[in-house]
Amino acid sequence: MTRAYNFCAGPAALPLAVLERARDELTDYQGRGLSVMEMSHRSTEFVAIAEAAEQSLRRLLAIGDDHAVLFMQGGASTQFAAVPLNIGNGTGRAGYVDTGYWAGKAIKEARRFVDVDVLASSKDDAYTRVPEIAALPTGLDYVHITPNETIGGVEYHAFPDTGDVPLVGDASSTLLSRPLDVTRFGILYAGAQKNIGPAGLTVVIVRRDLIGQARETTPDMLNYATLAAADSMANTPPTYTWYLAGLVFDWLLEQGGLAAMEARNRAKAECLYTAIDASSFYASPVAPAARSWMNVPFTLADPGLDGAFLDGAEARGLLNLKGHRSVGGMRASLYNAVPQAAVDALIDYMGEFEREHG
Ligand code: PMP
Repeated sequence: MTRAYNFCAGPAALPLAVLERARDELTDYQGRGLSVMEMSHRSTEFVAIAEAAEQSLRRLLAIGDDHAVLFMQGGASTQFAAVPLNIGNGTGRAGYVDTGYWAGKAIKEARRFVDVDVLASSKDDAYTRVPEIAALPTGLDYVHITPNETIGGVEYHAFPDTGDVPLVGDASSTLLSRPLDVTRFGILYAGAQKNIGPAGLTVVIVRRDLIGQARETTPDMLNYATLAAADSMANTPPTYTWYLAGLVFDWLLEQGGLAAMEARNRAKAECLYTAIDASSFYASPVAPAARSWMNVPFTLADPGLDGAFLDGAEARGLLNLKGHRSVGGMRASLYNAVPQAAVDALIDYMGEFEREHG
């Protein structure tokens, strides 16, 4: 069997050990004579799987009792609406930091429900840095940031202090890449398909005192109170994805947890940025202080060579390096399941390509 090196931004690479375990248990889960996919979500077996996954996630991120963990559906995009519906009901004003594509989507959706105050934007710098919030206005229900912009490759390496105003983070493409102080956040949410598991699940970590304030018209399945009261089983949850997420969490614990992942991920990103910076053929558009460890966009000196670069990469088993259609160029996503060997192979190939075409 050959496994390609997959640099996809999501759905992203999964650890081989997790896929193998899932394969081994696919048709007969631990001698029960059926697949996890075929189990009632109310069964003792599945409830145990679900609870164990939550406990493993709590251990990984050191999530205390003050925060509930919800396993929801609808992707991170659905949280763009769920957040204002659940906690945008005091003054009905919310602050958003505009860091690029995904922040923009969150802002657009929030405007349906709350008055959005854009507190800071890096639009004038083509979204290549993290903008500072100059002064926090009073009377905001919450402040929303996007800790890692998957497309722009811009990542917060320190979070803003919002005092008593709950901080909300769309952590889709950074959660589990390193330790993160959950207590800094009122809500953290993430689509699963990067560092958590396959698509179809959304993890929402929400401070318990923020639950129960949803506006009357909130659809039940978007109401954190409904989900929390039912242990995320208010309706049929994405059981198989939840199970796979649990396997990923346990794999991460076996690897040494998030401190170990931080060391690995920092090393992978540093290697790649160093190679890009050392070359006059490749360039990173992002300000060094804001460079993402998970998503590394880069450009070639001549965009006319992009196609040849991608073809050559694919022939070597280096997959999904094409940048997002909105920015062009290349993007290498280096999530937890992408090994150092993949980064080394990419850097070798980049050097070879430069010697041939540079
Ligand atoms: N936010 C960020 C930062 C993302 O990277 C993505 C998906 N790439 C989304 C939101 C949207 O997630 P979903 O497709 O799960 O709705």
